[in-house]
Amino acid sequence: VRYFPSGSDAKIRVIVRIRPFLASEIKASGGNPIPCTFIPKPEGDRGQEVTLCIKDQETSRRECYKLDSCYGQDEDLASIFSREVRPIFPGLFQGINATVFAYGATGSGKTYTMQGANNQPGLMFLAMSEILSICERTGSSVKLSYYEVYLERCYDLLEPKMKEIMVLEDHNGQVQLKDLSQVPVNSMEEFSEIFANGVQRRKVGHTGLNDVSSRSHGVLMLSITAFDKGSGIPIVGKLNLIDLAGNEDNRRTCNEGIRLQESSKINKSLFALSNVIYALNCNEPRVPYRESKLTRILQDSLGRGSRAVMIACLNPSAYQEAVHTVSLAARSRQI
Ligand code: ADP
Ligand code: MG
Repeated sequence: VRYFPSGSDAKIRVIVRIRPFLASEIKASGGNPIPCTFIPKPEGDRGQEVTLCIKDQETSRRECYKLDSCYGQDEDLASIFSREVRPIFPGLFQGINATVFAYGATGSGKTYTMQGANNQPGLMFLAMSEILSICERTGSSVKLSYYEVYLERCYDLLEPKMKEIMVLEDHNGQVQLKDLSQVPVNSMEEFSEIFANGVQRRKVGHTGLNDVSSRSHGVLMLSITAFDKGSGIPIVGKLNLIDLAGNEDNRRTCNEGIRLQESSKINKSLFALSNVIYALNCNEPRVPYRESKLTRILQDSLGRGSRAVMIACLNPSAYQEAVHTVSLAARSRQI
């Protein structure tokens, strides 16, 4: 699977990433895992879109969706970074905010894509590294915030006790995260240490609850201060890199108690996100930002005058799950 249309007219790019089979999956299937078949086909006279057909090998069922781009199992993160994320940077240094999120079921590769895994840098790492080198060249600076949205509440991951952060609106209607930590970063060594501490807090921070990290949204916010070439006036641009909570299909999981409460809040906020993207892509007059904490927070970084990329992550052998993820992602951009 290799196809990269570019120049789509969608305001928010919706792309798919299919992860490879894991060694454990290959072993469990006796060396021969059954993949869904993913068939991407270019669309539009400039090839600016792709229709992705997902076919279940066992039943031959098939569903097709229109997207902006599709990255297959043989594609490394470097190509997603250079085609989808790097084009955002020039705007950031001119004050244009942006958001990149990974979306998909648990186990589909969201954290791997955004945060990375053992010595495999994710998009957060790649973005930070490039932003630091642009800062060095241009005399700009960058500050980092890292927070989590869990059960519609926001927690600072740079604070030892993960303080809860209030989401307020100032008199101009601008949404603010009150007293959220913002740490200046000057090197990748500094970043790695601060970020690793935040990741660790995300794993163990909620007393009595085991690893909520896949059931919460993790947001790394890089806030850049550049200087206007002519006037020298400072300009701030924000990049949000988000590892979203897993979009589990509630009809297919038997959740109870806290899990059900989590699950319904997660679904509500992912649905709100999808509604916001849809409203933006369709130029609807009213964008329903207020329907969830995450969309409220992202108001100034998701919408008119800003840029966004949604990466729908897929497990290559989970047909129903892939259809569930891609249908919601495609629904966001479809007009
Ligand atoms: P999620 O965050 O969506 O729940 P993870 O990112 O934790 O999923 O990925 C699930 C598993 O698959 C992990 O063991 C991860 O290392 C592995 N994985 C995910 N994406 C890739 C990839 N592109 N290449 C290799 N391994 C991957
Ligand atoms: Mg994860």
